[in-house]
Amino acid sequence: ITVGALREAAAGERRVAITPEVARKLHGKGVRVLLEHGAGEAAGFPDQSYAEATFADAQQVLAQADLLACVLPPVDAVFEQMREGATVVGQLRPHGAATRIAALGRRKLTAFALELLPRTTRAQAMDVLSSQAAVAGYRAMLIAAEACPKFFPMLTTAAGTIRPSRVLVIGAGVAGLQAIATARRLGAQTEGYDVRPETREQIESLGAKFLDLGVSAAGTGGYARELSVEERAAQQQALADHLKVVDVIVTTAAVPGRPAPKILTAAMVGGMKPGALIVDLAAEGGGNCELTRPGERVEHAGVTILGPLNLPAGAPLHASEMYARNVYNFTELLLRDGAIAPDFSDELVARTCLSHGGEPRFQG
Ligand code: NAD
Repeated sequence: ITVGALREAAAGERRVAITPEVARKLHGKGVRVLLEHGAGEAAGFPDQSYAEATFADAQQVLAQADLLACVLPPVDAVFEQMREGATVVGQLRPHGAATRIAALGRRKLTAFALELLPRTTRAQAMDVLSSQAAVAGYRAMLIAAEACPKFFPMLTTAAGTIRPSRVLVIGAGVAGLQAIATARRLGAQTEGYDVRPETREQIESLGAKFLDLGVSAAGTGGYARELSVEERAAQQQALADHLKVVDVIVTTAAVPGRPAPKILTAAMVGGMKPGALIVDLAAEGGGNCELTRPGERVEHAGVTILGPLNLPAGAPLHASEMYARNVYNFTELLLRDGAIAPDFSDELVARTCLSHGGEPRFQG
């Protein structure tokens, strides 16, 4: 069989779904790897770094691939150029993707959206949300350090002592914990906050302080649930007081399949120190701050709010290495006796499937 990947087409996207390492592993399983010319170039993998892949133009890749791996969903017209009955694996943004699922149907494609993997131990090696969130959290804190008018670490110099910056990370999932770890490495006085009580121990194990606002909202599957109106008001009141002493906030709060929870109001931002900075990692999903504008820089009462988009693409080499390994581990589940033969009794296969032979399998 042939596994293919294209050069990602989205603006600013620099990752690639198949790295030289993964091409080699697929080749070792008897799989032919066919990539579009320059597919890995922006990630730091020029064509010649792939010892075990063949290169062709996009049309040929699509015409020959039995399985197409992607980082972001391609435009629907790409599916129309694939061979009938082929398979697609990648981040396919399944929520609200009815037209995409219909396009898959027209070529009787089978598609797996890796965002839908359950957060179980067995799925961890394929978990693209985790691998890419780790990159996003790291990058968000570097962007914060760069844009902050203060030093992160404490310095004792002949010109006097510099006090460390006070950094707060709101939402301590995979991205938030990586942001906390990065702030600690840069020497900031770091706190983390989350509505899931089990994050206290995780935050403290990174040497940061857990900010206890007295609101707990654990949901199902290890995720948070949406807060009630009363809980949200209590959270905001407790947080507003605390924000007066904070220099940098990185927000990462999310509830799966829902818009990003609005945690920071304009009034709360107005109460912060002049020169304070907010990096809203939830910008793509609408933002955790009322004032965030996706992809833009907003100034409000002396406070800067950044809403960077697609942070994993900013560290494309390692982001691609992790992503490609996730794709490889999932693809292994689909292969049987040299063919693609998904076993739908496996929950990892069943829960990620958007379309099987063109029949829709996901409503969301
Ligand atoms: P996510 O991106 O869905 O959310 C980010 C964080 O925001 C979460 O920690 C969530 O609790 C928090 N949050 C939501 N609403 C909030 C609010 N109003 N105020 C403050 N914080 C809020 O989460 P994620 O990073 O994808 O991780 C979700 C969970 O899955 C975590 O428990 C993580 O450890 C777990 N996980 C488990 C595995 C595994 O065992 N295989 C793998 C990855 C993640």
